[in-house]
Amino acid sequence: MSLPGGPELLIVLVVVMLLFGAKRLPQLARSMGQAGKEFKSGLKEGYQAHPVEGPCPFCNVEVPAESKFCPGCGKSADDIVAEKERVGAASPNGKNP
Ligand SMILES: [Zn+2]
Repeated sequence: MSLPGGPELLIVLVVVMLLFGAKRLPQLARSMGQAGKEFKSGLKEGYQAHPVEGPCPFCNVEVPAESKFCPGCGKSADDIVAEKERVGAASPNGKNP
């Protein structure tokens, strides 16, 4: 006997759901939705935690770590981080002086 795999686990889950009753399903769905929301906001926070600090890739003005916009060109922190990552991917380490 081996441990239940993917499809078998799903069947077990369905049986457990039937045993515990459909009354709990809306509650379960709601808590799952909340978890999804929190997961999304967590992702957003993680994204904003990327360093904005340093020279802006658009105008080379120094951007403070906590700023939401570039003080030089007004680009959002998201834009700056995305552009930094794009530029970083385009030119591997060691190429720039
Ligand atoms: Zn800028």
